[in-house]
Amino acid sequence: MTEAQRTSRGIALEDLGGIRERVRLRKPQRVTLHSWSFAQLGTYIACKARRARIPVAHVDPRYTSQQCSGCGHTSRKNRPDQATFVCTSCGFAEHADVNAARNIAARAVAGWAVSHAADDAAEPTPARRG
Ligand SMILES: [Zn+2]
Repeated sequence: MTEAQRTSRGIALEDLGGIRERVRLRKPQRVTLHSWSFAQLGTYIACKARRARIPVAHVDPRYTSQQCSGCGHTSRKNRPDQATFVCTSCGFAEHADVNAARNIAARAVAGWAVSHAADDAAEPTPARRG
């Protein structure tokens, strides 16, 4: 049993489809290359995780970099520069990548709970089967 299994943890990744569509409009060459290598990395992680029986969740990537992981306030102004996140609403400050990663993790947990609630609802209990 791996550490991730023992602790019931998983891996959350941004869903790539949206990113590629959205950013290609601006800088075609660079973004295609970036998306390709990121997609390769995602595939590699998913493959490794499957072997280790670690769940992987793909989340909606929109505004993960502009949303405050503390209070949820979303604004472009929360990003004074590439590396910095400072919430204009609550003052929460963090490295921008760390803040975005917290948002991705939170979305994965929320999505996981919803998808598993659906699984539980679909599975009939012995009493219901009669
Ligand atoms: Zn905030």
